[in-house]
Amino acid sequence: MPSAEAVLERPESYVRVTCRMCQSRELKCFLDLGDTALANSFLKPGQSAAGERKFKLDLCFCSVCGQVQLGTVVAPEIMFRDYIYVSSTSDTIPKHFAECAREAVERFMPSRQGLVAEVASNDGCLLKGFQACGVNVVGIEPAVNIAKMANDAGVPTVNEFFTEAVGARVREQYGPASLICGNNVFAHVDDLDEFVKGFLALLAEDGVVILESPHLAEMVKKLEFDTAYHEHVSYLSLRAMDRLFGRFDMSVFDVRKTGVHGGSVRYFIRRGRAEKSEAAKALLAEEGSLGLHRFGTYERFAADVQALRRDLMGLLRRLKAEGKRLAGYGAPAKGNTLLQYCGIGGDLLDYLVDKSSLKQGTRAPGTHLDVFSPEKLMQDRPDYVLILAWNFADEIMRQQSEYRATGGRFILPVPSPRIV
Ligand code: ZN
Repeated sequence: MPSAEAVLERPESYVRVTCRMCQSRELKCFLDLGDTALANSFLKPGQSAAGERKFKLDLCFCSVCGQVQLGTVVAPEIMFRDYIYVSSTSDTIPKHFAECAREAVERFMPSRQGLVAEVASNDGCLLKGFQACGVNVVGIEPAVNIAKMANDAGVPTVNEFFTEAVGARVREQYGPASLICGNNVFAHVDDLDEFVKGFLALLAEDGVVILESPHLAEMVKKLEFDTAYHEHVSYLSLRAMDRLFGRFDMSVFDVRKTGVHGGSVRYFIRRGRAEKSEAAKALLAEEGSLGLHRFGTYERFAADVQALRRDLMGLLRRLKAEGKRLAGYGAPAKGNTLLQYCGIGGDLLDYLVDKSSLKQGTRAPGTHLDVFSPEKLMQDRPDYVLILAWNFADEIMRQQSEYRATGGRFILPVPSPRIV
């Protein structure tokens, strides 16, 4: 764990001039989402908004490897030491993780011998799935509060940021890892070289790294600009992953598309040169045909995002002028990007509701909207609910069938605002 002095020595944020995947200096910005508060820095009860820090949120493109990434990087110690996102909060994610674990064990550890390590293991949700398959596990999680939850729940968890030194130390204590998993973490890491060196330090010779992250294609196709927030520094594609792992003599040998977080890809990586599977070849071809490595694609994306903001604000203002009452469902990181970029605050939404008890009773960063439990919707019955956690829209609308039955309506903001 870095000492307090080490934390203070680092600047709070800096402007990135080299691509973290291929190290070129060919970064061009295409979308400025403004100065926004950190999307997971909720204001606790009684906490003043006066000290709230805002950082530039701008999206850039690397013309060499096609990677999309943030131009301004905020120090991880500011963002991840007291993290509020807990995997188990959603109904969908634990089921998805249990399935992932079962599949991975059957494919790569049929003898059930060996160790599974997970970086950014959160509350141990995925590792519990592996424990259920009878394999040894260890988590590595930087958030103090969440690592404690995992340890308390019986999932051995090291409270650290993952680095080469930490990888080596975990190997010493637990042995080499047959599998290293990382779900929704790789896109959050600024210094990926250090992270990959950590994999090499911990991974068994014939071990496999499995990383799952939202795919750049989904963001571009579905105009999911709100998946941009300071924690999320990279928007990954196979083409850029190949560049990164190739520099460390590792290969992405297979991929699998998965449904969580609005379209993710699971990447399978091992040491040395390996043949690409048919699925990996197909994904590379798809990335090419979508124009993911052409700057023009992102110029169009930026123009469409500006149009979305205009349309959404038009819709919300019209409903408000008709005397309707509006609230927001979900206070996810992406919701805070969307609200702050569009300029939606207390003048349009009365409050937000969220299932996470860690968020209830807080105020959302930037907009300072109060966050309540979802039960509030049935007590208060606003006319319209803007779904900010749109990746769980089906789950939310199913759970809120009573609210809908009594006349409540939902608004989905992306890819174009519409009432459902
Ligand atoms: Zn690059």
